[in-house]
Amino acid sequence: MSRELHGVPVSSGWAVGKVVQVAAPPPLPDHEEPTTAVDATKARVADAFEAVATSLDRRAQSATAAARDVLQATAMIARDKTLRGAVDERISTGSGPLTAVAGGVEQISSSFIALGGYFADRATDVRDVGNRVVARLLGAPDTGVPPLTEPCVLVAHDLAPADTATLNSDLVQAVVLAAGGRGGHTAIIAAQLGIPAAVQVAGATALAPGTVVAVDGDTGTVTVDPDDELRESLQHKATARMTAASRHTGPGRTKDGHPVALLANIGTPQDAQVAAATDVEGVGLFRTEVLFLGHHTAPTVEEQTQIYREALAPFGDRPVVVRTLDAGADKPLDFAAAAGAAPDEESNPALGARGLRLSARNPDLLTGQLRALSQAATLTGTPVRVMAPMVSTTAEATWFAEQAHAQGLSSVGVMIEVPAAALRAENILGAVDFGSVGTNDLAQYTMAADRTLGPLAELLDPWQPATLDLLAHAADGARAADRPLGVCGESAGDPLMACVLVGLGVTSLSMTAARVGLVRFALAGHTLSTCEQMATAARAADSPSLARESALRLAAAGLRDVL
Ligand code: PEP
Ligand code: MG
Repeated sequence: MSRELHGVPVSSGWAVGKVVQVAAPPPLPDHEEPTTAVDATKARVADAFEAVATSLDRRAQSATAAARDVLQATAMIARDKTLRGAVDERISTGSGPLTAVAGGVEQISSSFIALGGYFADRATDVRDVGNRVVARLLGAPDTGVPPLTEPCVLVAHDLAPADTATLNSDLVQAVVLAAGGRGGHTAIIAAQLGIPAAVQVAGATALAPGTVVAVDGDTGTVTVDPDDELRESLQHKATARMTAASRHTGPGRTKDGHPVALLANIGTPQDAQVAAATDVEGVGLFRTEVLFLGHHTAPTVEEQTQIYREALAPFGDRPVVVRTLDAGADKPLDFAAAAGAAPDEESNPALGARGLRLSARNPDLLTGQLRALSQAATLTGTPVRVMAPMVSTTAEATWFAEQAHAQGLSSVGVMIEVPAAALRAENILGAVDFGSVGTNDLAQYTMAADRTLGPLAELLDPWQPATLDLLAHAADGARAADRPLGVCGESAGDPLMACVLVGLGVTSLSMTAARVGLVRFALAGHTLSTCEQMATAARAADSPSLARESALRLAAAGLRDVL
């Protein structure tokens, strides 16, 4: 008999496979003798930290560039003086090695958690390092993802960034987590790799290794021991979806020929290679801060120019929208903090000096980045459009445009991801050339719900009528200002939502390249007028599920079959 577990869907698609559990950290003994040989214990613990760092460095050598950065950043945590200091302090006062490591890790990770947002990922990193060190001290096998030899469904309480970054999509058919959130690192990376995933799945860690499960990344349902009927229906849906996604090629357009540019979201030169090999019309969001997470010193203009060249060149004459650093309080960049741009005294970092606000505190960071982008654009010939994150006022948009123009960058836009910007879109967009809605943050700020918190997933649902209303307001403002308005948040990659967004007046959609085929198919099956009706119907509903159902009722059968 099949049984179902339920969680939050974070990466679309279906898979049936055997469970591989990611080794849980070894339990700490109930009691540990206090230390008498303080120096010897410190040396033993230091060796364990160094062994963990070296092993992560070794893994980094054979990893892809994106994974390498994450592994090296985790290795850096294992060598971090603050963490090591917190552990040594405990040994000095007599704690045993395991108690000292556990206590030091708890101290540092809880201070990250208190900061919230992206810092929570840092807390997971610190705990991951702590678990690996404890395993070494106990002589237990390494924690984390075991070496995989055959296709499987990876199940864990949570995955550390070092594990997520090295996921092999040839072997990992799906990911199921007991923890995790809609906007967390696992969700974003799994979606980028096209691996179906569900988070917040209660009971996941109790699944016995080898159990066959069916994972529905569209609903968050995990079916244990699926019967033949379910397996066949999922297989049928997966095949139908693949066929649909490859049915159309070329520029995005509705059934009646209304053009909607379909663009890719990228974060690294490797993403650029993958996306440029597909027939996307360009890039709608290049998240540049991804390149520098974990860097302790600000990259020079020359270093930035080189890396931007690598990311731009694959696109030739297709335009690339580059978002300037969206760092600060909740996407920590150490060098920005060191330069005094990101204050550490904020008690509510998601509402603090992040995104463009950070540049006002340290304009050199922005100037250097814009100069590097301008040089990379000249060297590659790729049309670069720069875009500012977290803009809230017309004055900020005007200031950003002046900075970009001063560096010779003529096409300038802003993200609409703060409700204030959506409400005042006509004025704000009038100061620049284009806008792009960040639905991830727009949902977070509209609903006052931290985007990384799993239990708040329902509030963060992009179908929330209030979020749709603000989007509609932004689209009306863009139309009145005669400026193009795209969407580059995750909701642009949902084919049904894509129709609604076009119906609201959005002119381009940017998403992980793996989603473009299905969105192109969805648009090709509906006229602009049907999209408008879907948008009106969705906005008339009073809950996210009713909004989606109302749009679905108007969708063509071809699309309904593959949702
Ligand atoms: C968004 O907020 O929707 C967005 C695209 O930006 P990020 O997810 O990088 O904050
Ligand atoms: Mg954002």
